[in-house]
Amino acid sequence: MCPGCDIAMAMLETAPNQPASHSLTALAEEAARTPLIAGGGPDEPEEEPPLYAARRNVYPQRVSGTYRRVKWIVLCITLGIYYLLPFVRWDRGPNAPGQAVLIDFPNRRFYFFFIEIWPQEFCYLTGLLILAAMALFLMNAVAGRLWCGYLCPQTVWTDLFQAIERWTEGDRREHLQRDRQPWTIDRIARAGTKHFLWLMIAWWTGGAWVLYFADAPTLVKDLATFQAPLVAYVFIGLLTFTTYVLAGWMREQVCVYMCPWPRIQAALTDEYALNVTYRYDRGEPRASVKKAAALHEQGLPAGDCIDCLQCVHVCPTGVDIRGGPNLGCIQCGLCIDSCDAVMLKIGRPARLIAYDTDINVKRRQQSEKPIYRIVRARTVLYAVIIAVVGIVMAYTLATRHNDAVSVLHDRNPLYVRLSDGSLRNAYTLRVINKSLEPKTYVLSMTGLPDADIDVIGSSSFAGSNPLIQIGPDQTREVRVLVTARDPIAPGASIPIVFSIVPKSDGYNTGGYTASAGDHFFGP
Ligand code: SF4
Ligand code: SF4
Repeated sequence: MCPGCDIAMAMLETAPNQPASHSLTALAEEAARTPLIAGGGPDEPEEEPPLYAARRNVYPQRVSGTYRRVKWIVLCITLGIYYLLPFVRWDRGPNAPGQAVLIDFPNRRFYFFFIEIWPQEFCYLTGLLILAAMALFLMNAVAGRLWCGYLCPQTVWTDLFQAIERWTEGDRREHLQRDRQPWTIDRIARAGTKHFLWLMIAWWTGGAWVLYFADAPTLVKDLATFQAPLVAYVFIGLLTFTTYVLAGWMREQVCVYMCPWPRIQAALTDEYALNVTYRYDRGEPRASVKKAAALHEQGLPAGDCIDCLQCVHVCPTGVDIRGGPNLGCIQCGLCIDSCDAVMLKIGRPARLIAYDTDINVKRRQQSEKPIYRIVRARTVLYAVIIAVVGIVMAYTLATRHNDAVSVLHDRNPLYVRLSDGSLRNAYTLRVINKSLEPKTYVLSMTGLPDADIDVIGSSSFAGSNPLIQIGPDQTREVRVLVTARDPIAPGASIPIVFSIVPKSDGYNTGGYTASAGDHFFGP
C-alpha cells in the first residue's frame, strides 16, 4: 500500500478525540486483539456500539509561543481585510462605482480594484477556482493542513470566539470549575457577556458580508435608518446566526464532522508532507521527570515526554497528537508551543512535537539523517498548473478589449423569401461597450457579396454601414436583417462574419475590430 494511503487510513480510523496508534502495523495488531462482534459468548446478545457519540466539551487552554503569535497575526490580517475591504475606494471614473471590491448583481458586474468582470467572462471565475484548488493542494503537499490551521474562516472565527470565552469565563481550569458549579449571578453575567460579544461579532460579520454587494457607506447609512432593502436584513440575520452557531457552539465539530477537506487531504498527503508530528522516537516511553531519572539510574530507557497533557489541553479540537495522525488535528501548531514551554521548563530540547514527517521519525530511529523534499513531482505539478493558469488569466485580462460582439441566428424561420425574389436571414447581435464613454459602432458584414444589412430601429449610416449607439459600460441587443441580392443555392450554408469598429468624427477610427461569425442559410 502506498504511504499516502497508509497515513490516510491511520487518520480515518482514528476517532477525533482518541489517541491513535502510530502505524498500520500497530492498528492491525490492535484490530486483531479486538473481537469483531461485541459480546463474550454465544448466549450473550450482540451489542452494537452506538452510532451517536455525545460531544465532549473542549476547553482549550491559553498558550503562547511562535505558532500562537503567527496565528494572531494571520487572524488580525484576515479579519481586518474582511471587515474593512468594502470601505476601500477605487476611482474608475464618473460612470462607474467607486468601491474597490464590489459584486454588483443588479448590473451583473464584479469589480476587483482595476479589474471589471462581465457575465460573459465567467471563465475567469473558473480560473480562480482552479487556482484556489491548486494552491490548497500545494499547501497540503508542502506542509499539511496549513489552510485549516491558520487561514480557514472556521478556524479564524473560532479562534476569536475562544479568546473571548477565555476572557469572559476564564482559562481552561477556571472555566471547567465554573461549569461544574450551580448557576450564580457571576456565572450568568460572564456567560451573558460572552454570548453578547459573540452575537456582536457574528452580527458585524453578517453586516460586512452584505457590504460587498452594494456601495458600503451608503448601505451602512440605509441599514442604520432602516431604509435598506429587506434582502440585506435577511442576509445579515442569516450570517449572524451561522457565524454564532458555527464558531461559538459547533467549533471543532465543523472540522471533524462537517468539512470534507480532512478526508480529501488525508487521501492527498504523502510521506514527505510536513505535518504536526509527535516525535515518538524521542518521547517514548513516557515518564515523569523523577521516574525518568530513576529509570536512567537503573540503565532503563525513558523518553522526553513527561505525560503532562499540556499539548492536549491547548488543542482547540481536543486531540492528543501523541497518538499519531488524526483527522481532528487541524495542524495549528499550538501543541508545539505548549510542549516547547514544558521542555524549556524541564531543561530538555524543544520540538518534541514539531512539523515533521513520519518517515523522518523512522529514519532517526535507524540513526539516519532526516530528509526534507519540498521539490517533488506533485509540488512541481501543482506549481506549474498555478503558473500556467495564472499567466493565461493575467495575459487575457491585460490584452482584452473594451468592444465585443456576439451573434445568434434566428431559429425559425431560417430564411424569408421577399416579393422581389431575394432571400433574407435575421440575426440578434449583442454589442458590448466596456469603456466608460458612450460609443458609436460601425457595423459591417463579410462573406456574402452584394448583400444589404439593416439594423432594425437604426436610421444612421456611415456610407452604407449601419451605426449602433451604446451607452458607457453597457450592452445592447439589436436585430439585424441580411438580404442577399444574388441567388443562393438550395441548402446553402454560407459562413458570414459581423464586425463592429468604434466610429470617430468622420468614419472608422481604424481601432480594434470585434467580430462574430454565423451562417447565411439558403432555401
Ligand atoms: S506537552 Fe510534551 S511533554 Fe507534555 S504530554 Fe505533551 S508531548 Fe508530552
Ligand atoms: S493536535 Fe496540535 S496541531 Fe493538531 S489541532 Fe491540536 S493543537 Fe493544533
